[in-house]
Parts: sequence; structure tokens; C-alpha cells
Amino acid sequence: MALVNKVLIVGGGVGGMCAAIQLRKQGVEVDLVEVNPHWAPDGAGITISGPSLRALREVGVVQEVLRRGGHWTHIDICQADGTVMKTVEMDHAVGAEDLPPAGGIMRPVLADILGRATQEAGARVRLGVSFSSIEQDAEGVEVAFTDGSHGRYDLVIGADGVNSQVRKLVLPDFPGPKFSGQGSWRAVVPRMRRNSTIFMGETTKAGLNPVSETECYLFVLDRREGMDFIPPQQWPAMLAELIGEFGGQLAEIRRTLLEGDASGLKILYRPLAGHMIGVPWHRGRIVLLGDTVHATTPHLASGAGIAIEGALVLAEELGRRHSLEGALVAYAGRHYDRARLVVSASGRMGEIEAQGGSREEHQRVMMHAMQALRAPI
Ligand SMILES: Cc1cc2nc3c(=O)[nH]c(=O)nc-3n(C[C@H](O)[C@H](O)[C@H](O)COP(=O)(O)OP(=O)(O)OC[C@H]3O[C@@H](n4cnc5c(N)ncnc54)[C@H](O)[C@@H]3O)c2cc1C
Repeated sequence: MALVNKVLIVGGGVGGMCAAIQLRKQGVEVDLVEVNPHWAPDGAGITISGPSLRALREVGVVQEVLRRGGHWTHIDICQADGTVMKTVEMDHAVGAEDLPPAGGIMRPVLADILGRATQEAGARVRLGVSFSSIEQDAEGVEVAFTDGSHGRYDLVIGADGVNSQVRKLVLPDFPGPKFSGQGSWRAVVPRMRRNSTIFMGETTKAGLNPVSETECYLFVLDRREGMDFIPPQQWPAMLAELIGEFGGQLAEIRRTLLEGDASGLKILYRPLAGHMIGVPWHRGRIVLLGDTVHATTPHLASGAGIAIEGALVLAEELGRRHSLEGALVAYAGRHYDRARLVVSASGRMGEIEAQGGSREEHQRVMMHAMQALRAPI
């Protein structure tokens, strides 16, 4: 007999959608509620590492992601003025030699691909809806929804992101994510090169990763004192100042930011916060997934990837164990080390950047983590 027949997933981000798709493959009935009525994340680009592409292949959407996104095989490492210092060939994830070693896509496009796959898999999705109460007993979980409806489930998966409400039911004492000391700036610009490009400045590092055949996204991290709100009308001038030391395409982007029409660049600023929560990640019949338990800064571009991997592992363990408790313990036990590696290595890279620390250590931490993540999950 199946461990779970009916599951509620709270949150339709990458983690929640992939869990829904994988559980539907096992014939589990899945309800998914997403609080955002438009089911659309912010309009930024996202990098899909080789291991993340491998995980998306398992979910069944990788070809669509590659068709609608961008990918590359090499990284050009440039001086601040844009001169290429070296070009590095990227390694494939183990078992994914048939896929590009890295890719990128616009978040709304990825959400569209996964959203369609979730519905085609047969999950019942309700948008603009969340839970108002969740109460569990030994046999199941009673959920009241914000639209006035009710449901009873064998398992509730909290996939509601870094500021999760479901987490309060599992870990009531968790104080919340911690500010990392850096802010993230992103903008969408024309794609000028085949390769991903990193510009090494004196104090700042900036990069351009393709998100389609014609576009790439600019990413820059800067040191910040706190999570203060910055009015969006100030973003173009602040981003222009931040990339002021760079030449090449970044100098052209700077000119557009200062003198041209920057509205098409879809600039986004976000202070970075994260956490790595120790196991257990469940309480009875409620379990946490993705950013709810491991929210990372973007230095390794792997946060979404580990949310997807977590969904794969959770569904797999639910499909093969003989007790629900055993499956939920096995899920967290199997997934914890990879998630922790991403969060801790990204955190260390951010510290080094914010403090102007050793570039060699930064490189070492990054290479070690990337190599380890290439291994199968
Ligand atoms: C600046 C930045 C850049 C990043 N770049 C990358 C990158 O290049 N590559 C990469 O792999 N990762 C990247 N990440 C990390 C990645 O975005 C996250 O790790 C990933 O989105 C986590 O997926 P998730 O499904 O756990 O959560 P989310 O994607 O946050 O999804 C949570 C969902 O739950 C919904 N929700 C919230 N509350 C409720 C509620 N009460 N009820 C119902 N629904 C609710 C939300 O609307 C949302 O749709 C980046 C992160 C940041 C901050």
C-alpha cells in the first residue's frame, strides 16, 4: 500500500512544482495552493547549473528549458576593462554528458514550463489561495484554506519559500532568515557572446549569463549594511555607479542606465538573506522543502537546483519506504549534505567578497563545491 495517497503542497515555486510532478508520476493525488494569483515570479534571469539541468531532466522538462532558455559550455574570465584573461571549459554533471554543462532562463519562463507540466501531470492547482489553519492527528492532516474550503491529506509539503508560513508549524522557534551583508542586482541585456562572462573588478565582480538565444542577464553583488528598502527609481543610477569600473559591454550598459531608456533592462535589486536549518525537517505529517529549510545566497547559482533535487529525493523516498516517518527522515538525511554545501560555500564566498578577502580562497571554495555537486544525488 502507498505511504501517501493524497498530498497538499503549499507553494508553487520550483520546489513545490517539481514535487507535484514527481508525486503524480507515482499516482499520488496532489493539491497545490499558490498564494500569488498570477503564479509568476519576478522577471529576473536565473542560472541553471549542470546538476540542476540533470535534475530537470528527471522531472521531464529539460528539453523545453533548453529550447526556451540559453546555455553555454565555456566561461570567459575578463579583466575589469573587458579583456578576456582566460576561457574556462565547464565540466558536465556526472551522468548528464548529453546536456550542456550550464544554462540560464528567465524565471517567468521556467515557471511557465513547470506550471504547465504540473497541470499536465494532473495536480489540482489553486492560485491566490493559501491555508488558514493546518491541524494534524495520527491518521491525517486537516487543512482549512483561505478561500473557505477544507481538505484532508496524508501529508502536507511546505514549499512556500524563504519566509515560509508552514515552517512556523514545524519549527515554531526558528527566528527567520539572516541578512548576508550583500545585495543582488540584476538586469536583462542583449546577448553579445556565446559564453558566460565574468568581469573581475578591483572591488566588485559582475557577470553576464545567457537566458535565451538573444538575451543574457547581468548580475552584480554589492556590500550593504542592512536590508533597507531602496526605491526602484534609484536602481538605474545605483547600478550604473556599481559597474562604473568596468569596460566592454558593461560600459555600454552603464551608458544606457545613465543616458538612455533603462526600462527595458528589467532591473531588480534584492538584499540577500538565507539559512541552513538542521534536521528534522518534518513534524508528523508536515514536511518542509526548498528555501523553507535551505535558502542560499546566489554565489553558486544552485538554490533552485537544490530545491528541485530535494523534490526528487522526497518523492523517491515516499515511493520506496515502508513508513512515513522513515521516508521523511531518509529524505532529509539524503538531501542535507548537498544543501548544506551550497548554503555554506555560497555564504563563505559572499563573506570573502564583502570583506575584500582572498581571491584564491574564493576560487577554491567555488571549485570544490561545484565539483562535489557534479556527483549524482
Ligand atoms: C538574487 C537571487 C538570485 C538567485 N539566483 C539563482 C540562480 O541563478 N540559480 C539557482 O539555482 N538559484 C538561484 N537563486 C535561489 C532560488 O531562487 C531559490 O533557491 C529557489 O527559488 C527556491 O525555490 P522554492 O520553490 O523553495 O521557493 P520559491 O521559489 O520562493 O517558491 C515559493 C512559492 O511559494 C509561494 N508562497 C509563499 N507563501 C505562501 C503561502 N503562505 N501559501 C501559498 N503559497 C505561498 C510563493 O509565492 C512562491 O511561488 C537565487 C536567489 C536569489 C535571492
